Amino acid sequence: GEPLPARDNRRAILAYEATEGGAGVLTRLIDDPKAIAEVARTALELMHFENIEKAISDGDATLLTDADDEACVRGCYRCLLSYFNQPDHEQIDRASDEVKQLLVDLARGETVLQQQTKPDAAAHLWLSAFAAANLPEPDALHFEIGEASIEYGWKTHRVAATLKPLTDPLAEQAQAQGWELVFLPSSPGEGLPPELVELLGGNA
Ligand SMILES: [Zn+2]
Repeated sequence: GEPLPARDNRRAILAYEATEGGAGVLTRLIDDPKAIAEVARTALELMHFENIEKAISDGDATLLTDADDEACVRGCYRCLLSYFNQPDHEQIDRASDEVKQLLVDLARGETVLQQQTKPDAAAHLWLSAFAAANLPEPDALHFEIGEASIEYGWKTHRVAATLKPLTDPLAEQAQAQGWELVFLPSSPGEGLPPELVELLGGNA
């Protein structure tokens, strides 16, 4: 991960996968409402805390206790420190009350996705064309497949449609993630690809 917008102004965390094309971890973090909670709970374990269940069920980080045999103070190479986060070692402190409470709060939480971004004018044309062909309404707008932002998705059907040019890497990536990816013409006036209509059970 990286702090955003900058190292000296940390407002958010950008998480990314270093594996080429991604290993599907980020998708799982978003799709499984309990995944972030599990990450937070595991973080507390790695940070040598005990009495974690009680602290989480009561929502009170002051109930966390230190494992008896731990020599670790702010962080060690078995918990938070690594060679990759060396520039951040000064700031890392596993004993921070704020951090402990944040992790306890996250461990009690569930992920709820924010409402999708509103479609723009061009998207309205496409959405109308989908509706005119009796296709279901897309349930995902502008979501990621690999590194590409894909315009329209029908998650329940695992079907996606994009205006991006057809490339082998993108097609392969979509296939690897279980998506049927259909490439759209530049405007809906040219008609919907029959493949899309067929996949979604509409009529042209
Ligand atoms: Zn440690």
